Amino acid sequence: MKVLEKSKKLENVKYAIRGPIMEAAKSIEQDGFEILKLNIGNPAVFNFSAPDYILDGMKDNIKNTQGYSDSKGLLEARFAIKDYYLTKDVSIQTDDIYIGNGVSELILMSMQALVNNGDEILVPMPDYPLWTASVNLAGGKAVHYTCDEDNEWYPNINDIKNKITERTKGIIIINPNNPTGAVYPKEVLEQIMEIAKENELIIFSDEIYDRLVFDDIKHISIASLSNDIPVITFSGLSKSHMVAGFRIGWMCISGNKEYIKDYIDGINLLSSMRLCSNVPGQSIIAKAIKDTESTKKYLIPGGRLYEQRECIYNRLKSIPGITVVKPKAAFYIFPKIDSKMYNICDDEKFVLDFLKSKHILFVNGTGFNYDKQDHFRLVYLAECDKLKCATDSLEEFLKNINRK
Ligand code: PLP
Repeated sequence: MKVLEKSKKLENVKYAIRGPIMEAAKSIEQDGFEILKLNIGNPAVFNFSAPDYILDGMKDNIKNTQGYSDSKGLLEARFAIKDYYLTKDVSIQTDDIYIGNGVSELILMSMQALVNNGDEILVPMPDYPLWTASVNLAGGKAVHYTCDEDNEWYPNINDIKNKITERTKGIIIINPNNPTGAVYPKEVLEQIMEIAKENELIIFSDEIYDRLVFDDIKHISIASLSNDIPVITFSGLSKSHMVAGFRIGWMCISGNKEYIKDYIDGINLLSSMRLCSNVPGQSIIAKAIKDTESTKKYLIPGGRLYEQRECIYNRLKSIPGITVVKPKAAFYIFPKIDSKMYNICDDEKFVLDFLKSKHILFVNGTGFNYDKQDHFRLVYLAECDKLKCATDSLEEFLKNINRK
């Protein structure tokens, strides 16, 4: 019998967040058990809802958004995106803005248009794994640079410098970060900019959590720091406006475009090949992007995300053998387990055993291309009572593991 196998292009493409552990969770559900899923950053399933004007706007606009739009997106939406970045000191032309079906589509597109076989792209470790997957799918090599847990998970500048080769074309940063919740200070961003300048790299800055920052920290877009090199900034409404299912994202090219004209041609080609992103979604961007208030209420003391962060952070660090850096943004936390104390040498097995035993779902750290087996990521979108239940269960589970 003829066997059709998946493409060899997928050999190094992984996406653990929805991978084998999720499959195990499905089979437990089929056996009739409920699972507390703290594995995916999907606000709506935790009873977060978009502001009414977005939901009403989508309904009102549906009649007028049945046709394709310009492949880069509705002009009105791109004007609003341009204005948003001006408030962040980034100057972008509407023609350099591409609206996509979520940031995900644009990440794939940006890599497909640039990377030849063997080209290297610097990717943070840990990362949001779509980045590594997209570099590899495009035939390139994702070269991981370390983010230091003992320095607030900031990128290790020396490690970045050491990993640059003649094949390096770009550097990716995720700021604010998934999975660590780090927000990079200006000094760190300036050093990355400097390295990019010296080596004529493109910077890819994933800023999808730029509005979900706690503690009055100001988010700085790296594109605001210099115009000497090209920067592609990615963001969208999935997280800030709690509409992940509407698939609304964008990427903006700014800075020096002289040496990337041909790459831009490639992006334009891929952008037009997929015709356009969903137009009803685009139609609410102009209104939504001006609304800074509806997100803020979650981030201040008394606000849901703020309180859930306090709750998860304080409880996790009280568990023997767990250490954790307090997240400054987004809704993820990336704790470390003392693997010697608990004799853990396979983080996927640890997460799977925990799932089977307690019916609670985390993602293992290696799923974020982390090179050690002693981390996991937890999404703290769930309410405090559920987070407490998850951490109580974790403590109990760890107590029953063979301690060394
Ligand atoms: N970038 C990061 C860092 C993310 O965490 C996510 C989703 O979790 C995405 C991009 C994809 O977002 P979108 O819903 O816009 O495709």
